Amino acid sequence: MSKRSSVALDTILKQAVKVGRYPWMAGRLAAIEKEKIFFSALNPRAETGHARSIRQLSIRITDMCNLRCHTCGQWGDHGFLHGKSLKDLKRQEISPERYLELLEDLARNGHHPSVYLWGGEPTMYDGWLEIVERATELKMPTSIVTNATKLVPAADRLAAAPLFLLQISIDGHSAEVQNAARPSASGAGDNYKVIQEALAAIKEAKRAHKTKLPLVASLTTISSANVNHLVDIYEAYKDRVDIFVYYLSWWIDEKSAKAHDEDFARRFGFKPKLHWGWVGDWTIKDHETLDKQLREVQRRAKGFGKPAVNIIPNITGLPNLQEYYNNHDATFGYNQCISIYQAVELDSNGDMSPCRDYHDYIVGNVRDKTITELWNSESYRRFRASLHTEGLMPSCTRCCGLMGY
Ligand code: SF4
Ligand code: SF4
Repeated sequence: MSKRSSVALDTILKQAVKVGRYPWMAGRLAAIEKEKIFFSALNPRAETGHARSIRQLSIRITDMCNLRCHTCGQWGDHGFLHGKSLKDLKRQEISPERYLELLEDLARNGHHPSVYLWGGEPTMYDGWLEIVERATELKMPTSIVTNATKLVPAADRLAAAPLFLLQISIDGHSAEVQNAARPSASGAGDNYKVIQEALAAIKEAKRAHKTKLPLVASLTTISSANVNHLVDIYEAYKDRVDIFVYYLSWWIDEKSAKAHDEDFARRFGFKPKLHWGWVGDWTIKDHETLDKQLREVQRRAKGFGKPAVNIIPNITGLPNLQEYYNNHDATFGYNQCISIYQAVELDSNGDMSPCRDYHDYIVGNVRDKTITELWNSESYRRFRASLHTEGLMPSCTRCCGLMGY
């Protein structure tokens, strides 16, 4: 059986008690993990591209962002959004009302996916809170990944809903490291300060609502800017977050990017573009330091009262880390993408794609079709069938869909 990414057992056990008041949330999340493990038995028609329940609805809800993080494939050093008109990007966004209709349609058709909001910066989209609230009412666990902008005024509603998981991008233990890795677009912002204020507001809102939710996760994208500070990050935030996620970071080199152009065009008849946004020079060169830092955070996370640590993808040990960053072809046993059978990705303009970051392949647009109408459409099934029978594409080997979903 091919290797699947999964939530670490340690993380599940440590959070189980906090989600105890909401068994339906735990049930939905367990269903995702169960389907990953028993994928082949549960999907006898996988070869034809047919998929069962939608387990995750991922919405890249806006392109707008007030930061310019170096490692970002959208607004980073080589991000694909540079040069685009902000007005045009804003104008083509889907309305909150349409998102609410789509959620109702999912529920009516028996789908109760977890709903994951990202961007851009999702809190810069007016209506994001209404989507969190309605999805939660429909018994769809919600999560958001954010740079912490606008969380202070939203904290009370997030605890009341409750949001299931609040993921905050934390790349530094200090203002200096955080703001160097995640500078503001204007050059005048202080994201470190914004995070401190947001964490305090969320803590207070949870206390007021007597709830353990939202769980708070610190998401650290490891880069040369912070590789020396992974332990410092754990220490700086261990009393304020529930889970630490350390991303080895997705990347692609020119050789694989060109190979992906050819392979994708051969399969689907046109050249993809978006993977070129992940060609960059931020990946780690000092693998010894990374290895030591990761070992130490894992050591410090041992014990029931300590926040859990997840390394995504779950690749550890010096030889493996060297391979991860030097050999883009290495898959470490992850040789089948099943996220395309469980998750859908909506882009800010309503385009629906099977893929997360590399959403060049579009199966339709949710302005004129519902998610459930597109889920097993001919176009969607064709994409899944290609991946199932022909195997991975070159860009897949450093993709969240393969190793991080
Ligand atoms: S906050 Fe997120 S979307 Fe904005 S630049 Fe940083 S990584 Fe990209
Ligand atoms: S692993 Fe490949 S098929 Fe799966 S989501 Fe990523 S790019 Fe798409």
